[in-house]
Amino acid sequence: MVGAGQLARMTQQPAIALGVELRVLANSPDESAARVIVDTRIGDYRDLADLREFARGCDAVTFDHEHVPTEHIWALAADGVAVHPGADALVHAQDKAVMRERLTAIGAPCPAWRVVSSADEVSAFAEEHGWPVVLKAIRGGYDGRGVWVVRTPEEFPGGELLAEAFVPFQRELAVLVARSPHGQGVSYPVVETVQEDGICVEVLAPAPGLDPEDAAQAQRIALKIAEDLGVTGLLAVEMFETADGLVVNELAMRPHNSGHWTIEGATTSQFEQHLRAVLDLPLGSPAMTAPYVVMANLLGGDDPDIFKRYEHVMAHDPGVKVHFYGKDVRPGRKIGHVTATGADLDTVRARAKHAAVYLTTGEYT
Ligand code: ADP
Repeated sequence: MVGAGQLARMTQQPAIALGVELRVLANSPDESAARVIVDTRIGDYRDLADLREFARGCDAVTFDHEHVPTEHIWALAADGVAVHPGADALVHAQDKAVMRERLTAIGAPCPAWRVVSSADEVSAFAEEHGWPVVLKAIRGGYDGRGVWVVRTPEEFPGGELLAEAFVPFQRELAVLVARSPHGQGVSYPVVETVQEDGICVEVLAPAPGLDPEDAAQAQRIALKIAEDLGVTGLLAVEMFETADGLVVNELAMRPHNSGHWTIEGATTSQFEQHLRAVLDLPLGSPAMTAPYVVMANLLGGDDPDIFKRYEHVMAHDPGVKVHFYGKDVRPGRKIGHVTATGADLDTVRARAKHAAVYLTTGEYT
């Protein structure tokens, strides 16, 4: 796995159980996954020679982020390396303009969009689709960085950007599917993702009160995208629920924050599923282990010493599961998550929230 963040770190656990030897490419030995994975190689994912050296002897190469240059993935494939997802698929998670063009072509529901490179072009787009306009960096954005909601042409930040009509959504949903090189596909239940300041803070599984028809439709859309784009491994499809139906926001082709709940909440975690898919093994059951599962992210607060609050959280609710990523605490940084499961959504949500808020701030909710 190229990249050694928390996604690679959490992939190690099912790799142990499956007997898969996981190798990661880290930038430095103190990265999240590098701290726990024996076969950690240090190198630069932007350097083809480093990638080639890293890939030597691997049965399959996959990623914990989207930033490996597309041309390097081509080169590895040309060397005969089994890269999953391949460059043809991954480019849709790397480049938002390519993604919009392709999704529009295959009939997936998208907001109106256009590539713009001047304030005048933003105005012209707004004349057709109204203000505000959502502008996005075409490559490299994450956690809402690289997204601007603008109400006048003067706010155009410059550069070549993707303009999208502002979608008046009711809530944000995500669908996680897996597809293997054989073409086997599975979908996890549709979840609701709750964002604050562009960062996901909470995931509710399954999305509460979602019309079963809409849930099935969301899963069909995600599976169709996986098939039409030739995705191998996991595909997370972020969607907006609107009064007029579902709209696709963006794609990720790797384990995703909206799927962390599956570690305890599904028969097969997303991390195991990704390993199975990229190794072309039969996929595992995505069935839930409880009626409701809530995951809350731990975002670093002002007090870096969160570990002193461990004991309270464990003693207060022995059913809550705590995950730390081995990262230094910095305000706003995703440093871990907690998961609660149970039969009553409000109770499960309150339990996860209590643990997350107490761990990060010391406040007692
Ligand atoms: P990132 O790649 O940084 O995660 P996203 O494309 O997911 O960026 O956008 C971040 C957030 O901005 C979304 O979660 C959503 O809340 C908001 N957003 C994005 N696109 C639109 C849109 N077309 N209309 C309304 N809100 C949007």
